Amino acid sequence: MSRLFKRTKILATIGPSVFAPEKIEELIMAGVNGCRLNFSHGSYEERDEQIKAIRAAAQKKGRSVAILQDLQGPKIRLGELKNNHFDVKSGDELILDSSIEEHDGGNILPVQYNLAERMKVGEPLFMFDGKIKSTVTEIVSKTAIKVKVENDGFLMSKKGLNLPDTDFGGDVITEKDMADIEFGASRDFDYVAMSFVQSAEDIEKLRQIMLSHGSTAQIIAKIETKKAIESDEKMEEIVKATDGIMVARGDMAVEAGNEVVPIVQRKLIALCRQYGKIVIVATQMMGSMVDNPEPSRAEVSDVANAVIQGADAVMLSDETANGKYPVEAVKQMKKVILYTQNNTKILPIEHEQTGEYKNYNAVAHAAARLAEEIEADVIVCQTSSGATAASIAAQRPNVPIITVTSNARVAGQLALTYANSAFVRPFTETYGLDLAQELAASDYLKKREDRKSILAVIVSGQPNVEGGTDTIQIRNV
Ligand code: PGA
Ligand code: MN
Repeated sequence: MSRLFKRTKILATIGPSVFAPEKIEELIMAGVNGCRLNFSHGSYEERDEQIKAIRAAAQKKGRSVAILQDLQGPKIRLGELKNNHFDVKSGDELILDSSIEEHDGGNILPVQYNLAERMKVGEPLFMFDGKIKSTVTEIVSKTAIKVKVENDGFLMSKKGLNLPDTDFGGDVITEKDMADIEFGASRDFDYVAMSFVQSAEDIEKLRQIMLSHGSTAQIIAKIETKKAIESDEKMEEIVKATDGIMVARGDMAVEAGNEVVPIVQRKLIALCRQYGKIVIVATQMMGSMVDNPEPSRAEVSDVANAVIQGADAVMLSDETANGKYPVEAVKQMKKVILYTQNNTKILPIEHEQTGEYKNYNAVAHAAARLAEEIEADVIVCQTSSGATAASIAAQRPNVPIITVTSNARVAGQLALTYANSAFVRPFTETYGLDLAQELAASDYLKKREDRKSILAVIVSGQPNVEGGTDTIQIRNV
């Protein structure tokens, strides 16, 4: 039975290819568990329409779908270039000036951020997703810097810059982010993703700002700067401070080098599993499907490896936002996830779960082991804060987890958590068992051929006591 459920989740980025509500519905029907709204682009009006479309489609499918607000952070871009093209040669000197709007075709280029405030002479500056490398040679004025280009190529309007060695001094939340956080707090977001995190303090800062606006969303720290991955200790501090991690391989590869990414991915997944935090692997997982109906062998392997390493979720960016085959990309990803989970076990982690280990963690641990030992068909978890469900998931059992909660926000957040299918029901002492019976009657939970009933491990506890989980039952449903 368990083979029907995909345990590794899919997070899809919403963009022009899927703006139509019917397209969003198709994505969700195809297996998307969460939608990312990228606040680097788009208006608030569009956001509200998308939130509405996602919630409507989720309701139609009868499943929770997470919505993630992705803050732009200090993603720095060039301004408009004359004719949208500017050739550069190794040895060229360019001036990047945030005070100019127009590019006259010469070597003074407009940029959307005051680099002179942050950068120092000798620091590297990469342009156009790392295609053009340069070094700062002079701070020319209060708003302009001079760089020396190190390779031949060309630039285009609005292309991104990376400043791998520049310290933002705890200032990674921009004015635009502040406005977006305030907007988000009054909207229906389950997660807020923070770009270009450099330290655990950045996350604490965001948490305070979100709390001051009454936000109930959890924080996903996007790991994509050299600073965030400079040591194992640094990564561990960040994992402890956040609710979840995104392995943001796109900018990470530019800032730290391609070859760094696979090892960092493994370390971050292991750390998140150790601390019971959610972990999402992102960027170019099915990249060639932006233009092609089939993924490459390497991409299939990449998705399968993320599953084997035990990621909670894998993400699609351009594939669904701007690609020609958004729904196909989801279907292909789902196919790889199902085959992989049904044909191999998730790798065990080196370190046992740590952090603040509480009673409910021990109960969750026991329930996961019990379910595997008796070959249960399903683990049913009653949860108020979601912590018990997350803790069972952290054990990465090869069994689906059906979670029931009276809190829609908690259900939305669990939509991205490994193996969890979360349902919202009014609280009763027995709502776990009741839901299992309902799902068995509706054929959502199917019997194994060699069994007369569905074997469920039910985890519950004292109502409305956070961490009050204290009971495991075995029931035939
Ligand atoms: P982005 O983040 O798509 O917002 O840049 C992900 C990444 O850098 O990989
Ligand atoms: Mn990024």
